[in-house]
Amino acid sequence: MYEEIGIHEKTIQLMKEAEQEIQLQWREIDQLQEQNSLKVLASFHKHHISEAHFNETTGYGYNDLGRDTIEKVFADVLGSEDAIVRGQFISGTHALTVTLFACLRPGDTMLSISGKPYDTLDEVIGIVENPSSLKSFGIEYEQIDLVDNDFDYSKIEKVISQKFYKLIEIQRSKGYSTRKSLSIEQLEKVIALIKKVSPETIVMVDNCYCEFVETKTPTEVGADLMVGSLIKNLGGGIAPNGAYVAGKKKCVELVGERLTCPGEGREVGPSLGMNKRLLQGLFFAPSVVASSLKTAVLTSRMLEKLGFEAEPKFDAKRVDIVQNIVFNDKEKLIKYCQGIQSASPIDSNAIPEAWDMPGYTDQVIMAAGTFTQGSSIELSCDGPIRPPYIAYQQGGLTYDYGKLGVMKAIDNIIEDHG
Ligand SMILES: *Cc1c(COP(=O)(O)O)cnc(C)c1O
Repeated sequence: MYEEIGIHEKTIQLMKEAEQEIQLQWREIDQLQEQNSLKVLASFHKHHISEAHFNETTGYGYNDLGRDTIEKVFADVLGSEDAIVRGQFISGTHALTVTLFACLRPGDTMLSISGKPYDTLDEVIGIVENPSSLKSFGIEYEQIDLVDNDFDYSKIEKVISQKFYKLIEIQRSKGYSTRKSLSIEQLEKVIALIKKVSPETIVMVDNCYCEFVETKTPTEVGADLMVGSLIKNLGGGIAPNGAYVAGKKKCVELVGERLTCPGEGREVGPSLGMNKRLLQGLFFAPSVVASSLKTAVLTSRMLEKLGFEAEPKFDAKRVDIVQNIVFNDKEKLIKYCQGIQSASPIDSNAIPEAWDMPGYTDQVIMAAGTFTQGSSIELSCDGPIRPPYIAYQQGGLTYDYGKLGVMKAIDNIIEDHG
């Protein structure tokens, strides 16, 4: 069957061998899926989710029963006091932006302790000049880099004992960097330190790509706020857009006042018919995240067998759904992405090329033949066009489609099929 769609024998054999070698990882992923599914269902039961919650509001969106209940369900599932979950958040970046503007005031300083934040925050913070940045409002920014893929605990302790930081940002997933992603254990340790030295500092976690990959969440280990996109893990491939911010009630309220207007806050915001899709997306999310993880593990194993450097390794503990492949070769990166695109359900005939994407400094190539524009819980692969030419692959709504995509991509970079 694979040969019929143009995949060579060598790639098929490679896949078969790799699949045999990842059985242990699969069992662990299945257990994770089971645990997360139980969590989701228990919350649906607790809040008596019924057809009434699928109703929409329009206009101002007062008294949106579905929206308000969805926020309670998300809060439960994420182990948080409260959550705001809205389609009015355009993206993860937007939710992070609203959260930063909600918590910080002129004269405050924010501190990132996981190195430079995700590229799209450069202009938000003012690392790259923008007349609407936090910096333009008199909010300062400082940064402490990671050391050997871990927090610089002693430097953090020293810096936060000398000066008060209103907010500390921690980004878990690596973004377009070469570091490893940060685990819940690392988070727990550093948040304990922050809370000991500076209990009033708000700890905000960029949790993009990490939901349902580990069983504990950042707020369960002491974070005040965490933020993520619904066209990633928790949308389950069904949410049409949106993002969530979960955490301490006091902080989530501030985010609501900033997202809409002071005085109206979370009381407004029409759900416009998306309630059912948000609930259904969350319902599927444990299984979709598991498919993504299985696709990532297979990718890692297959590429390692071909002699490429894959991070994480197939048998490493995972923190997010992102799989890196270091190509050290511009053409291979491009060909791999083009292979992913050609196996996608949507726009399979499009050939991705590197372009200047808004919000990013280097040219970026993106393969995303997705149902939802830009969705990266669907199989997608991208990378900045700069050495060492790393592909960042993530997603896979089902394992079969994920596997097929990876096989096509690998087939595309194998030079000798003989
Ligand atoms: C995807 C991502 C974001 C931004 O999300 P968008 O929805 O693409 O704006 C922020 N931080 C990290 C770590 C991400 O992976």
